[in-house]
Amino acid sequence: MFLYNTVLRKIKLSNFPKINFRNFSNYDVIVIGGGHAGTEACAASSRMGARTLLVTHKKETIGEMSCNPSFGGIGKGHLIREVDALDGICGRCCDISGVQYKVLNKKKGPAVWGPRAQIDRLLYKKAVQNELFNIPNLDIVCSAVEDLLIERSEEIRNGDSVNCLGVVLKNGDKIKSKSVIITTGTFLRGQINIGLEVKPAGRMGDEPSIGLAKSLESLNFRIGRLKTGTPPRIRGDSINYNIVEKHFGDNPPVPFSFLNDKVWLKAEDQMLCYLTYTNENVNKIVKNNLHQNRHVAEEITGPRYCPSIESKVLRFSKKSHQVWLEPEGFSSDLIYPQGLSCTLPEKLQVELIRTIPGLENANVVKPGYGVEYDYVDPRELYPSLETKKICNLFLAGQINGTTGYEEAAGQGIIAGANAAAKALDREPLILSRTDGYIGVLIDDLTTLGTNEPYRMFTSRAEFRLILRPDNADIRLTEKGYKIGIVSENRYKKLIETREKLEKGISILKSIKKGSNQWRKQLGLPSSKASVEKSAYEMLSIAGDNITVQDLVNVEPKLFGFLRDEKGISDRIKIESLYDHFVKEQSKEVEEIRTEELLMIPKNIDYFSKSLSFSNEEREKLSIIQPQTIAAASRIQGITPSTIVRLLRFVKQKNSLKDCNFT
Ligand code: FAD
Repeated sequence: MFLYNTVLRKIKLSNFPKINFRNFSNYDVIVIGGGHAGTEACAASSRMGARTLLVTHKKETIGEMSCNPSFGGIGKGHLIREVDALDGICGRCCDISGVQYKVLNKKKGPAVWGPRAQIDRLLYKKAVQNELFNIPNLDIVCSAVEDLLIERSEEIRNGDSVNCLGVVLKNGDKIKSKSVIITTGTFLRGQINIGLEVKPAGRMGDEPSIGLAKSLESLNFRIGRLKTGTPPRIRGDSINYNIVEKHFGDNPPVPFSFLNDKVWLKAEDQMLCYLTYTNENVNKIVKNNLHQNRHVAEEITGPRYCPSIESKVLRFSKKSHQVWLEPEGFSSDLIYPQGLSCTLPEKLQVELIRTIPGLENANVVKPGYGVEYDYVDPRELYPSLETKKICNLFLAGQINGTTGYEEAAGQGIIAGANAAAKALDREPLILSRTDGYIGVLIDDLTTLGTNEPYRMFTSRAEFRLILRPDNADIRLTEKGYKIGIVSENRYKKLIETREKLEKGISILKSIKKGSNQWRKQLGLPSSKASVEKSAYEMLSIAGDNITVQDLVNVEPKLFGFLRDEKGISDRIKIESLYDHFVKEQSKEVEEIRTEELLMIPKNIDYFSKSLSFSNEEREKLSIIQPQTIAAASRIQGITPSTIVRLLRFVKQKNSLKDCNFT
């Protein structure tokens, strides 16, 4: 199969590192769990030069994608770019394992574009394993961690913080380390549900983690319970593709990694995704069988933004819902029906699926299932992701209440860097909300906590015009280099890119002419008044109508140095488009800051049509009834633009009231 086998061969796994049990001691960092948080954590810690050990259940499941065969999307794509800017591995691995690449949200501005890829599960896993098995100072051992080694655990009860000294394996072996990172995903007291059946498991086919859950409980961590689910899998050759919508990848496919100019496969070799819809029959099957569906009981909170088909039917009873038919890879005939996460008994899942257009003869190979698990209240953590109760113990990934590979990877890289920094006595890497989405994620978690699986959205970031996927390297790579997680190579690439961008922008800014003179040269209609504008300003004013390459064509002598720099030219264009908005955004932020103490009247109807808020925002504001603008801005999921709208609404109401009195 064209490049596939070549790529598989290229990802040649060196021997799985063999470790002599008797020599197990004195690691700088131990990472528990080889999922998306754990792999980034151990890779980051090793890049820092820390002697690192990854302890995970099985070699085969290192880098396993537990649920959807895709990476990225809106908000999540930003996280991958940021992890890549810090020299993380997931972006690079996606660039050599995607089967379809597509930037989502292209109709909106580049700040909220969502780079996404449909991924070949096997290739991705091999790529991650290839990275880890070839890192010099990383050892890997396959075992369950049953307990933590804690110094003077009796002191915890007195409220003193004590040290974590290492881990205890299932066979009783004790391994010491200066720092420990737990990244156990959905495994802590994991339990899977199909229909009324309940089985202890971290995910299908994997044992739950009970011993470690008990250790965390005995250390007095605040523990909650969350749930999530996955859809059944269907054989591709049983789908009627003639009656479903076809969706193609981008041409050219855009890579995730700043190190790559292109991805591993050609545009025309990308696989297709398909779209179909649920109907009234699906709704009926769900509603008539609630008594056979243990997982839908609402005592435990599931993912609001990745809900099961049952939750969608119950919340929007008459609606038809999208079902994306996504390939699981070149070497697999399985299709992942995204949108059909389901925990009905297996027989009913088949019945439900076969009522959907295109799936009438679907061969359901694996049933969907739900999983419930323990998570630790992330307010127990510092922004470094170290726990407040136990020194040198760090938590990252789904254990902190998040959902998604990207959210896990973003936390993993920070925990890995900081656990190593602590062990090596270096400064920690703390990202703020203005540095990146990873900063937003960690700040939300550690200050607000979460009582539902937390996923990233662009709306969570108040500085999203600055925190764009295109500029993650400029924002983060130098920070990462300073602490030691970014390679010399990547840093050099950043310096080159930055110099080219600065030179390009400065020359474009320095060349000025009358706007109509530019317009004539560029073939644009002239405007009434001609005002002096720089080439950079023209790029911004003319929006989609001109590119940097158009300027190169009309002024080759001045701008010819950008002719072969497509990537740099695209980035300059984006910078020019946001120049004005970034300034405006800073003003809005200032407006919120100065009006923080403004009181919100009690009788506000948050469901009023005159307030253009999302349903989620209306719900949260009306339940919480914040007293001030500051209190409203601290509610998770309420965007800064909503706060500005609320602030202006309250001021307008106040001024009308004042008028009535006079
Ligand atoms: P994981 O990727 O789960 O990795 C945990 C690792 O820890 C595993 O390698 C495991 O073997 C290891 N481990 C656990 N306990 C121990 C121990 N005691 N000792 C040693 N090793 C241990 N995300 C979405 O965004 N949308 C979805 O719809 C979605 N649905 C999901 C459905 C299911 C059924 C599951 C299981 C997950 C789903 N996810 C979904 C979540 C997504 O898979 C996770 O968010 C992501 O994988 C979390 O990464 P992590 O590194 O925290 O944990």
